[in-house]
Amino acid sequence: MSSDKVGEARTSKHIRLTSHPGPNATPVIRWGAATAAERGPVIGTTTHRQHRNVVGTHSGSYGVYRALAVAAGNLVKGHRADLTNTAPTTPIGPYPQWSDAHKIVSLDPWGAAVGEVFAEQLAQGYDIRPTIAVTQAHVHLPEIKQAIAFQRLQIDGKILLDDASATVTKIAVEPVWWIEGVAKRFNVSEADLRRVMFEETGGMYPELVTRSDIGIFLPPIGGQTLYIFGNPRDLANPEVTLTARVHDECNGSDVFGSDICTCRPYLTHAIEECIKGAQAGGVGLIAYSRKEGRALGEVTKFLVYNARKRQVGGDSADKYFLRTECVAGVQDMRFQELMPDVLHWLGVKKIHRLVSMSNDKYDAITGSGIEVGERVKIPDELVPADAKVEIEAKIAAGYFTDGVVPDAAALASTKGRDLV
Ligand SMILES: [Zn+2]
Repeated sequence: MSSDKVGEARTSKHIRLTSHPGPNATPVIRWGAATAAERGPVIGTTTHRQHRNVVGTHSGSYGVYRALAVAAGNLVKGHRADLTNTAPTTPIGPYPQWSDAHKIVSLDPWGAAVGEVFAEQLAQGYDIRPTIAVTQAHVHLPEIKQAIAFQRLQIDGKILLDDASATVTKIAVEPVWWIEGVAKRFNVSEADLRRVMFEETGGMYPELVTRSDIGIFLPPIGGQTLYIFGNPRDLANPEVTLTARVHDECNGSDVFGSDICTCRPYLTHAIEECIKGAQAGGVGLIAYSRKEGRALGEVTKFLVYNARKRQVGGDSADKYFLRTECVAGVQDMRFQELMPDVLHWLGVKKIHRLVSMSNDKYDAITGSGIEVGERVKIPDELVPADAKVEIEAKIAAGYFTDGVVPDAAALASTKGRDLV
C-alpha cells in the first residue's frame, strides 16, 4: 500500500464524504496525501455539524473554556475566526516527510497554511482553523544575560541584540491525531485505542467508538511550542549544524525556579547552546512539549515530592522512580513515541548536537529515522543541590552521561533536602 493511500478515509454509513466539497459536503481527509488539496482540510467546527470530519473540536484542550464563554454569553456561538494577517511570518515546508503518512501522525502538517491551501473551501463557508501558528519574537532570559557577562556569548546584533535579547521564530502546534497512525506507534489496535480513550475520558468523546469512519481526533491535551534560533529553513538542511533540545514542561522549575529538578537549568543551557550554534552559522531548536510532570500533572508531581521527602530515610536517588510509581501507578507517562513528529514537520534529518540526556527521547528520535550526532549533557555546575537525587537516579536508569554511572550504594547515599 503506498504511503499516500494509507490514510484514506473509510466509507461512511453516516455521512457522505466527498473530495469535491460543495457547501454541504463533508470533506474527506486522506492522511499523508502528497498535496493539501488531496489531503483535505481538518474541520472541527461545532456550528455546521455536517462539515465535521474529526472527533473533538479545534483547540481541544481549550474546548471547555470555549463552552464556558458561550454559556456565560461572552462568545457568540458559531463565531468564525477572521484570519486576516495571521499567516506565518516564515513559511515552513512542505517537506517530503509530510506525505509519508506514518512519519507524522499527531499534528497536521498543513495546519499553519490553511488560509492559503484551503482558501477555496474557506470562501465556500467551511470553518477551517489553523492548528499551527508561526511568529517572530525577542526572548530575554537572565541566564543569557549572565552568559554574555561571563563572555560565553557575544552580542552580534542579529541572533543576540544589544539589549541581550535573542531573536527567535516561535511556533505553536496543537495536536491533530490520525488515530490509525497513533495506534500503530504504540503497537495497539485502532479499535482498542479508540475504546480506551473513550473510557478513560469518562465517555467524553462517544464518536471515538460510534464513528469509526472518522479517522482524526483533536485530543484535549497540550501541544508544543517551538523556538528556533537562526533560519528555520536550515532545520531541513543536514549540512547545517543543528543544536536541539526536546524539553517537557516543568512549570515549577521552568517558570518559578524550583530547585528539586534540572529542568530550567538544562533548558537555559540548551538555549545558550542554540544561540552559540546559530551564531556559528548553524541553527538552534527548542521543542517544548506541554507534558507537565511527566504527563502526570502537577498535583501528582507535588504529591510525589512529599512522598519522597517523608519516606523513611528521606529523599534518596535509589527510591526516586519508586515513589512516582506508588502515587501514579507508572514512572512516566510522557511516551516520547509522538515527539519526533514535530521534527519531521520541520524537515529535520539530522540533529548534530542533541542537548538531552534522556534515552527515551534519543531512542524515539533515532528510531524515527533522524540521525543524532553528539549528545550534550547538563554541565555539573548547573545541577541544583536538591536535584542531585533526580539526575543520579536518571543516569542510573540509562540517561546519557560521559561521567560515572552511580551504583546501588551511590544511589542510596545521594540524598535530597527535607521538606522544609
Ligand atoms: Zn522539573
